[in-house]
Amino acid sequence: MVSIAMFATALASILRLQHGNRSCPCLPGSKNCYAAKRACHPSLDHQRSTSTRPLTFTRCLTVFALLAVAGAHAQEKTPPLPPTPSVRQLAPHVFLLPGAVPEERGPDGNTVIFEVPQGLVVVDTGRHVWHSDAILAFAAARKQDIVAIVNTHWHLDHSSGNRRLKAVFPQAQVYTTGAVDRALDSFLAKSHARAKDRAAKGETDPVQAQETQAFLDTMAHADSLRPDVTVARTQSKSLGGKTFDLRVTDRAVTDGDVWVYDPATRVAALGDLVTLPAPFFETACPTQWSTALDQVWAAPFEWAIPGHGDPMSRADFDRYRSGYKAFVACVQGKSEAKSCAATWAQTVAPLQGNTAQGKAQALEYAEYYVGMLREHGGKSAECQAPG
Ligand SMILES: [Zn+2]
Repeated sequence: MVSIAMFATALASILRLQHGNRSCPCLPGSKNCYAAKRACHPSLDHQRSTSTRPLTFTRCLTVFALLAVAGAHAQEKTPPLPPTPSVRQLAPHVFLLPGAVPEERGPDGNTVIFEVPQGLVVVDTGRHVWHSDAILAFAAARKQDIVAIVNTHWHLDHSSGNRRLKAVFPQAQVYTTGAVDRALDSFLAKSHARAKDRAAKGETDPVQAQETQAFLDTMAHADSLRPDVTVARTQSKSLGGKTFDLRVTDRAVTDGDVWVYDPATRVAALGDLVTLPAPFFETACPTQWSTALDQVWAAPFEWAIPGHGDPMSRADFDRYRSGYKAFVACVQGKSEAKSCAATWAQTVAPLQGNTAQGKAQALEYAEYYVGMLREHGGKSAECQAPG
């Protein structure tokens, strides 16, 4: 989880996310606030259990709440909305609507759309209204109904759009694990209480206010996040007249993720089992996540679609998997955080086009996560798995 913060007034324009002896400047438009972005990644603000949690952390996270509903007053002051994402075809009848990570807002996860005999199957629905609007625009252009939604996990940058899609296609059933029910009673309930408190006190930054209000709107309709059909175990499932493999993890990114394998096209939609510039560990069990990556590798996929980032070939995925394992082993060892991060950044650089910016992001995210994971014995505070 990572955050994003943006700050309207001069005084509020500097937030610092501090972790140990490092800090992340959250400046408006800053290129250096990756750690802050991470902190807001899954849902909203992340209540750290450690007493070392800096006071500014929650403020930093609030910027990355959810959806994108806002009052007219806030709209007047906010920066322009990101461009509407455009759909690209991955394989026959398979399409990618890329998510985005706008600096001043929470991210949207990638959406994968399968065209099936009875309509469209949508894997993950994004966070913001412009992302779900793009899904709906695609359905309108194809003259197809959305007949099913699969949420790979409950993080709200992958599921907040359920409500808007179901408003247009009420027959579409949501398939996901029961992890969201547990999250709504714990992690999301705590975030919700903090968001209500912030809203009651008033927020001066209009983007922050928008994102918080969007989160509150999502939580006001939290049933839209819950499964209509709970996917409790790995199984073949006919969705809209086409058979998919729904693969369930035993903890990984959350305490129950699902990824989708299409045997016909050999496309695997992985959700946040794969993310760049780094794995997002905020609610993760790293060891079980490693097992899940091995299970993905065992499937005969040709293309793996990450939750955030570009589609990967098998070779790309294996590079990610080996980098992941080396990173987790480094976290569990005695090496300095910078060393673990440098190895990670070097490994995944080709997956980010070998760009300087990509490498800088990977370094900063990874170094942050070394500290976060070591604080909790090598896993996230949310991970309930022993060891
Ligand atoms: Zn995500």
